[in-house]
Amino acid sequence: MSCDCCKAEGRNSEYLNGNKKICRAKLFKVYVGRTATVKLCRLCDIELFSIGESRFLKNHYGFTKELAVNQKSFT
Ligand SMILES: [Zn+2]
Repeated sequence: MSCDCCKAEGRNSEYLNGNKKICRAKLFKVYVGRTATVKLCRLCDIELFSIGESRFLKNHYGFTKELAVNQKSFT
């Protein structure tokens, strides 16, 4: 299992995290009226938690775009 965000941005999350665990996170601002469930590595999870969803999505444009294009796989 790999981090959706790192994958979308072309980073190797397994390398960055020393193959540590991936957690599921819910995003509320991506889709109207429903949540997106994504897999995030520890680094991305901490970032999301500390800067908030809006800024996280802005910081990771590739990931946001991926979510928009592949809606079904994230709901
Ligand atoms: Zn990640």
